[in-house]
Amino acid sequence: MHYSGAVYRPPSEAYSLIIQVTVGCSHNKCAFCNMYKAKKFAITPIEQVMEDLQWARKQYRRIERIFLADGDALILPTEHLMGILDYIRENFPECERVATYASPRSILGKTPEDLKRLREAGLSMAYLGLETGNEELLKKINKGVSVTQQIECGRKLKEAGMILSVTAINGLAGSNGDWEAHAIDTAHALNAMRPDFIALLTLRIYTGTPMADWIESGELVMPQPMELIRETRLFLSEIDCPGAVFRSNHASNYLVLKGNLNEDRQAMIDQCDAALRGEAQLRKYVELGR
Ligand code: SF4
Repeated sequence: MHYSGAVYRPPSEAYSLIIQVTVGCSHNKCAFCNMYKAKKFAITPIEQVMEDLQWARKQYRRIERIFLADGDALILPTEHLMGILDYIRENFPECERVATYASPRSILGKTPEDLKRLREAGLSMAYLGLETGNEELLKKINKGVSVTQQIECGRKLKEAGMILSVTAINGLAGSNGDWEAHAIDTAHALNAMRPDFIALLTLRIYTGTPMADWIESGELVMPQPMELIRETRLFLSEIDCPGAVFRSNHASNYLVLKGNLNEDRQAMIDQCDAALRGEAQLRKYVELGR
């Protein structure tokens, strides 16, 4: 199996076969992200992808999930990706889910028909980083798209029939920034996208990123745990995504929250209130691998 550099995948892909169909991220400019800083973006030669799939087929009798890495496999030309998906369908009939990270630019580059064809060929789930629904902050972190475009991306994936998982980052505005606008606008953007899964991570600062420089210069002040929970509470009070599964249980989160929206929203707000009153145990800071 060929793997180039560190390989990342969402927590829910822990048991998936990971096939690196691209190396790195074609955008690679988000101010907080260091995942692919050491990699120059490249498309993995199709022969190498097929070799990896053939190797995996020989090794494992049953592969139920496949994750196409690295940062945004959707950037591949549609026909190239269709070839990979067709091969998976023919050779891994037991595979129930093929998923990928999807950068906004790669989604915008696909037509609704492209996405539908990819869905029909087996690409059933996409992970999209919204990060924030606040226009000013999205620009500051250099996501490369507007909030309207992010919403369009989410809707395009949903309309193609894909399962949509969206992440946002608690604390992204810093405690000296407009955290209220970040919380409210992010909830409203998600309300418009209607994802199937929402993951609220907590901001972590990684060496070598522009954000690490902002912390160093004082331009951004890292929020304290209680400030983060106050922000989460505000976010939850604005969220209206019936049917979505909400998770804030990543290793980065101080307060573990999980529930189904909207029915568990009040219970999660109550958990935030209990934590703000000092009645809940918070997780300790966890050093992450990225
Ligand atoms: S699009 Fe995703 S992987 Fe690429 S730099 Fe931004 S956060 Fe990182």
